[in-house]
Amino acid sequence: MFTLKSEIQFDMAHYLSGYVGKCKNIHGHRYRLVVKVSSQTLHESGQLRGMVDDFSEVKAVLKEVHDLFDHKLVIEENEEGKRVVEKLNESGKVFEILFVPYRPTAEEMSRHIFNEIKKRGVRVTEVELFETPTNSCIYTEED
Ligand SMILES: [Zn+2]
Repeated sequence: MFTLKSEIQFDMAHYLSGYVGKCKNIHGHRYRLVVKVSSQTLHESGQLRGMVDDFSEVKAVLKEVHDLFDHKLVIEENEEGKRVVEKLNESGKVFEILFVPYRPTAEEMSRHIFNEIKKRGVRVTEVELFETPTNSCIYTEED
């Protein structure tokens, strides 16, 4: 088995609807995303001969994931999330908000990211999303 590993980092704030405790406030993390692309075999001909995939192709897709989340405020699109955004808008400032159809935890985000990478044609086999240097979520799918 061959496995390519590539990583990026991005800064993002999130709001966790219904959370009680320290993380009830809007707060941010420097996320570290480690992606694995695996294959039993290598390409046998053409541009990709001897490769699992082109690193530059993987990097280009990771850049799109970076741009999707970087310096955004990520909020679940539900009643509570909409109320929070209304409050923020009262200040007159314009925030770049990314609404998502899930509570933006490391678990949900890693699944979302896995699917974003997969639908761009990269044979992703594992996504590991670090929310802090010592806490991460790994998402994989059975073949
Ligand atoms: Zn958090």
